[in-house]
Amino acid sequence: AFVIGEPCVDVKDMTCIEECPVDCIYEGERMLYIHPSECIDCAACEPVCPVEAIRPAQHVDDRWRPFQESAKSAFDVLGSPGGSTKVDPPIEDTEYVKNFEKH
Ligand code: SF4
Repeated sequence: AFVIGEPCVDVKDMTCIEECPVDCIYEGERMLYIHPSECIDCAACEPVCPVEAIRPAQHVDDRWRPFQESAKSAFDVLGSPGGSTKVDPPIEDTEYVKNFEKH
């Protein structure tokens, strides 16, 4: 699955949401999130991000890894919100934002 990292925080350009053919990119309070099990690895989102915040799992490095791990645990809790592109508060309480604050 593709992973959205720190550059998206407080940017939320949203172009990727329009590109995703399976609507697996969700909007949170401060950034967007790719659902790790809904993503079909089509790569359509990666080139359209103006801040290069999207990477495929095989290119996840130390800076992206916390976001990858947090997306997984957040959606484990949320399940598949489906239909809506808005994911609200629960996901913001995860390590995603906590890790961002450390940078
Ligand atoms: Fe959606 Fe494709 Fe990007 Fe996965 S790689 S989030 S399916 S656009």
